[in-house]
Amino acid sequence: MNDTAPTPAFAELVAPPAWRTVDLISDLHLQAGEPATFEAWRGYLQTTPADALVILGDLFEVWVGDDSAAQPGFEAQCAELLRSTAQRLPVYFMHGNRDFLVGPALAAQCGFTLLDDPTVLVLHGQRWLLSHGDALCLEDTDYLKFRAQVRTPGWQAAFLARPLQERRALARSMRVQSEDRKRDPSVVWADVDTDAARQWLRQAQAHALIHGHTHRPTDHDLGQGLRRIVLSDWDAAAHPPRAQLLCLSAAGAQRVDLR
Ligand code: MN
Repeated sequence: MNDTAPTPAFAELVAPPAWRTVDLISDLHLQAGEPATFEAWRGYLQTTPADALVILGDLFEVWVGDDSAAQPGFEAQCAELLRSTAQRLPVYFMHGNRDFLVGPALAAQCGFTLLDDPTVLVLHGQRWLLSHGDALCLEDTDYLKFRAQVRTPGWQAAFLARPLQERRALARSMRVQSEDRKRDPSVVWADVDTDAARQWLRQAQAHALIHGHTHRPTDHDLGQGLRRIVLSDWDAAAHPPRAQLLCLSAAGAQRVDLR
């Protein structure tokens, strides 16, 4: 990096002056088989005093297409909650690796706004760099190849052209493979690359990167005034339950555990 290096265009979300607080959540991995987390999320959405909500990916354990919310079921329930929430406060959604197929149809139906990954949130004069985090796990080369493939319009169009039942079955089999891999002790889990995080922060002229994905909720000091803040995943049925948000305000970033 030097002063003449080209600066990529980081998308910006500039908060209106009236916004005092913005809530960030990620990695709820909502699924029909885990009703406790869905209920925790519902309770949170109905009571949050935040001026805006930003979802940083993997809200859903899997999303096989916006048409899945068109028939009665779990996806439709989630869509209805998003819709009623977005009537009360602005809702933003960034894709995770599980729900990258959330599309413009669902956004229009529910009234939320899709965000690019990454996006700079400008709030009270501070620049927060928001990402799901998967693109920065540079050691996970197999996944990054898969990611590059499935984020192309061609792959997505071909997948979405398959019948809904077939897409659901494919997602189930991919999930079984992923669970098997999780149980494999020889698999080393990649983390966000520190140099890449610093580079993004400098290019975005931001002081803190906020991301999810890794399920390792920690605040990292990257030196030179730079920080990396990792959101917690949610599991309301765990002991103790995990349901945490990050609240941004003029005072900075504060973790809030929902009880
Ligand atoms: Mn993820």
